[in-house]
Amino acid sequence: MRININNRDEVRMMKQSHIGSVAIALLLAGCGGLEAPDLILHNAKVFTASGEPEWTQALAVAGDRIVEIGSSEAVLALAGPSTRIIDVEGRVIVPGFNDAHLHTGSYRIKREIVQFGDGPPDPTLDEVIDSLRAAAARTPVDTWLWVPVGGTVFADPRTESSRLTEAVPDHPVVLQGWAGHGRVLNAAAERQVEPLIAERWPRSPRPPEGASRKGVRHGYDGFRVDAALQREPDSVLAAEFDQAQAEALAWGITSIQMIAYPTDEQSAAAALERVGPRLRWSFIRMPMDPNAPAGPTDQPSSEGAVLFSAGGVKVLLDGSPVERMALLRGVYADVPDDWSGMTYMSFEQLRAVVARSVDTGEQLAVHAVGDGAVSLLFRTLQQHDGIDWSSRRVRLEHGDGVAEDLLEVARALGIVVVQNPTHFSLTELLDQRMGQVGRSGWQPMHSLVRAGVPVALGSDGPVNPFVNIMFAVLHPVDPAEALSVEEAVIAYTRGSAYAQFAESEKGTLEPGRLADLAVLSQDIFEIAPDQLPATTSLLTLVGGSIAQAKPPFSVR
Ligand SMILES: [Zn+2]
Repeated sequence: MRININNRDEVRMMKQSHIGSVAIALLLAGCGGLEAPDLILHNAKVFTASGEPEWTQALAVAGDRIVEIGSSEAVLALAGPSTRIIDVEGRVIVPGFNDAHLHTGSYRIKREIVQFGDGPPDPTLDEVIDSLRAAAARTPVDTWLWVPVGGTVFADPRTESSRLTEAVPDHPVVLQGWAGHGRVLNAAAERQVEPLIAERWPRSPRPPEGASRKGVRHGYDGFRVDAALQREPDSVLAAEFDQAQAEALAWGITSIQMIAYPTDEQSAAAALERVGPRLRWSFIRMPMDPNAPAGPTDQPSSEGAVLFSAGGVKVLLDGSPVERMALLRGVYADVPDDWSGMTYMSFEQLRAVVARSVDTGEQLAVHAVGDGAVSLLFRTLQQHDGIDWSSRRVRLEHGDGVAEDLLEVARALGIVVVQNPTHFSLTELLDQRMGQVGRSGWQPMHSLVRAGVPVALGSDGPVNPFVNIMFAVLHPVDPAEALSVEEAVIAYTRGSAYAQFAESEKGTLEPGRLADLAVLSQDIFEIAPDQLPATTSLLTLVGGSIAQAKPPFSVR
């Protein structure tokens, strides 16, 4: 049993109805159509993402499954008296998008965010101190002052906890790298956080020497701060999930893979159940202690066909180039001392994590960004020569550093690379960090596809799939690595389903697959890339049901 939701009856029902509709689909396919479909969408430009064929005009749905695709004429011929027929007037239909790397979750503390500009913030330490003093003067003392920062603060040798405490003694203060990695807390924040962390993860080791010097928390040491302050399941969290799924459906997203959710999956399920899942959620947990033994619910993967599932384990191998903690084989160009970044766990811990996944069969999702971290992971996997890693689909979250010489290893190991196209906009940052080595070859996409490495797409930032597709087809960091719109959509649908072992359920529009799809407001295959972000879904189907509709379409 891979499902972990409190209302097991509901899940059982969903599974039974899916078995029922598969039977219907088989009957229809095998016997030339004994029962009329429930729904037909025709006069469309259907991108199947299966390649067989690549394009078609119409599809028929019975229960939660697609039962036929083909020309409008052929599919309309299947209609019976009760079939609902929708003319989509030439619009594009794509498989529902599957966001393979999405974060959400809020804090149960009162926070005031101290902002620096609209883009990625990169204030100096002095600017941070000035703004913190000003914020403290106007803010009640029980409010946490939270400052997103960039690489400048982390590179400044003066950045330490005591300096923040000097400037702001009473309010809890947290500086957080805007990429999510790296924290610096003042004493007031440390006083509140440390007991919570000690209580919840008593056995968690402090990170390797050097990673947390002077109160700068990197890696797990930093994420435990957030996890300790994260909201427990309650009406606020439930409302947040509900808003996330409403927004997702309006963009044609029908599956969300929540990555590294610090709340356990039972709590997440409970929160989701309050509002009712309207699309397919799966949760990949990230234990805050990588040494922790696998829990009773740890299973290889999610099933894809249900509305809630949990499985897989995320581990952090390194950080990001923003705070210069992605582990490089070379050195960072914009700091002295030959700094290469570092791993967030010891080699022994990594070996133990991999060995545990070998034993339990649990799918590994490894955050490895730098080429040093990626090659370290690959070498560790290769040490288990008896294991067919391809069948285990180890996920590389981000995978920026799958350098050219690592592509063949990635393919041989069956690594699934989950890329995040909005990261391809960081041209200036990568120019600074990579210097003469250059940013070319960093953040591969087209090379992965060409080498036969499975690619999935996830947002890890702005959720709008059309913003992500825009960056996938422009790839400002490395235009030679850009994908076509078709390739990007395939990665976002079939590729993301493959990453969760669900490609036989969803991700393509063909008979037998779940009827998860979106009718788009404009033809994303024809418009200029800068027009892509304005695209919406006018009609989103999840399991054959209309989950969201805008004019000229309606739910009923
Ligand atoms: Zn992420």
